[in-house]
Amino acid sequence: MTENQTPQRADFMSMTPEELETFITALGEKPYRAGQLFGWMAKGAPLAEMTNLPAAFRKKLEEAGEYRLPVIEKKLVSRIDGTVKYLFSLADGECVESVFMRYEHGTSLCVSSQAGCAMGCRFCASTLNGRVRNLTASEILGQAAAAARDTGERVDGIVLMGIGEPLDNYDNVIRFLRLVSAPRGMGIGLRHISLSTCGLVPRIRDLAGEGLPVTLSVSLHAADDETRSSLMPVNRRYNIASLLEACRYYFDTTGRRVSFEYTLIAGKNDGEAEADRLAAVLKKGMRCPCHVNLILLNEVAETGLTTPDRRRAEAFRQQLERRGINATIRRRLGSDINASCGQLRLQRLAEREKQEKPG
Ligand code: SAH
Repeated sequence: MTENQTPQRADFMSMTPEELETFITALGEKPYRAGQLFGWMAKGAPLAEMTNLPAAFRKKLEEAGEYRLPVIEKKLVSRIDGTVKYLFSLADGECVESVFMRYEHGTSLCVSSQAGCAMGCRFCASTLNGRVRNLTASEILGQAAAAARDTGERVDGIVLMGIGEPLDNYDNVIRFLRLVSAPRGMGIGLRHISLSTCGLVPRIRDLAGEGLPVTLSVSLHAADDETRSSLMPVNRRYNIASLLEACRYYFDTTGRRVSFEYTLIAGKNDGEAEADRLAAVLKKGMRCPCHVNLILLNEVAETGLTTPDRRRAEAFRQQLERRGINATIRRRLGSDINASCGQLRLQRLAEREKQEKPG
């Protein structure tokens, strides 16, 4: 190492308990401390609070490593249903969003996997300024730990449906899944975790082989390649047929039912004919149980796209059911705080730009 190079500080919150053991043993600490440290980090505790760890050890960790939880920049709480939306800032000033939701069967946290997104979906706020960088495993885990600490509630389930394309940050997301499900950490069952993807086909196949039985949620949004390509550029690389084949493979390998997301956009994909086509495509492509989540478009001013009314959405749902496809219209939690992801980060980017270039 040359003189002016600072040694890289270890991101120890991204380590598995086993890796942590090796790391702290090298620092001269007893191996069993790894489990304690791992448990504390899963609670989002700062080093100062880890009182059953010797002070000298905590000091060593501070010097050798980098441990910084996402900081709450902004927090919005829905008056309607108590949904909490966070804008978190990361060590380098990048911002991401998470949403904490309460359902009858438990709580769920929607986390971001990248700062921005490179996928270019036409209707989505997260991709408007492109992708800045991938999040590390600790930055994804940190959102969950910070939200649990702030709300004082257990996070029962996770959905990777925030900012970013999780399969475009594959290694860190896989690592995150192992960390968040570890019994000594947050211990969230893999069956309570959903990963949403726009359809990176080779990565869906890789995921099937990881031994991580998460629910795969696929953003379909159209039942023909022309419409889908116009809404989602990724479809030009991996078309609907190849995507459904990968979904079928995921089901065959993991035994987990695949669910499909279909955002209804007025005049683009919300007619009865499209519902018929969707049912036909799914039946032919999947030949196994699957479920469609219908989402009413959350209007993003910059895109010029609009949402159909509730009646039309209901007609679409019924048409799918008539054709033998289970479908639900997703309940919108936190509608008063605009709880879908991407918009707070955009606002923050715009505010910063204004500060940097006044007038
Ligand atoms: N990159 C992942 C996760 C993205 S967000 C994916 O593409 O699946 C989760 C879901 O919200 C996706 O289905 C996405 O297509 C959808 N979505 C994005 N912007 C939306 C908007 N403005 N209104 C409704 N749904 C939207």
